[in-house]
Amino acid sequence: METLLSHYARFLGLSDSWVVESVDPYIEERRVEIRQSHVGSGVFCPECGGACGLADHGDERRWRRLDTMQFTTELVARLPRSRCAEHGVKTIVPPWAGKHSRFTLFFEAFAVEVLQACRTVKAAAALLGLS
Ligand SMILES: [Zn+2]
Repeated sequence: METLLSHYARFLGLSDSWVVESVDPYIEERRVEIRQSHVGSGVFCPECGGACGLADHGDERRWRRLDTMQFTTELVARLPRSRCAEHGVKTIVPPWAGKHSRFTLFFEAFAVEVLQACRTVKAAAALLGLS
């Protein structure tokens, strides 16, 4: 029988290199926080795409995901850093977001659709819960 964490890993489409550590609801804040960890050993250099060893993991980062039911959902993770012989230590680009984005690719795609459907950016921002 699968656990809640493995269900979330499947919903998130995570590879074997990532595991969901926790899914915590913050009911008063109407927010869900999903924490996931990188458990893979090899990574790819974001500059040249070459297979590299794992240097370490960077600071904790957050990404806004599509909502879970009516709850704002955030993904929290420390990204692995590659150690490339040519480019040195580099933070990898996660499979769920752009290089410096604070939003997942799915959230960004949804936000574009909301922007196209709304008459104003202010109305779209209100629907998305963004400033
Ligand atoms: Zn490289």
